[in-house]
Amino acid sequence: MDNCVFCKIVRGEIPATVVHQDELTVAFMDIGSVNPGHMLVAAKPHVENIQGMDDRLAAAMFRTAARVARAAEQVLHPQGISIYQANGKAAGQTVFHAHIHVLPRWENDGMEFTWPVKNPPREALEKVAAQLRAAL
Ligand code: 5GP
Ligand code: ZN
Repeated sequence: MDNCVFCKIVRGEIPATVVHQDELTVAFMDIGSVNPGHMLVAAKPHVENIQGMDDRLAAAMFRTAARVARAAEQVLHPQGISIYQANGKAAGQTVFHAHIHVLPRWENDGMEFTWPVKNPPREALEKVAAQLRAAL
């Protein structure tokens, strides 16, 4: 992917502050860091989103996220760590190369996340769950 910014980082064509890498993933500081220690874990192969990851890549992504989260815990002593991963414009994705945000958190750090609970009836949950099971 010639014009993909994270592919360019993977190939070393543009600078990035890399924290860790392995065969399938690279973790680097987010240029727009919300808090100290805000990192992105990107897939080395160009996949647009989580739906495009095979089992091996999906496992490698979360392994790296957990690994750098432990380092953030040790170094920065945050009060919490958020894992954020967006797929698609409607979900808030702005760079269309799959990545996981590892975001150290502190009380009142300004991060906002609204979660508009709708409490659907059990039958609605059963219906969509049956469709999902059939799709697996
Ligand atoms: P998304 O909204 O797609 O989940 O997040 C994309 C993230 O990539 C943003 O937090 C943004 O700051 C970060 N980002 C965009 N371009 C670059 C870049 O060239 N270098 C780095 N290190 N981060 C970037
Ligand atoms: Zn890419």
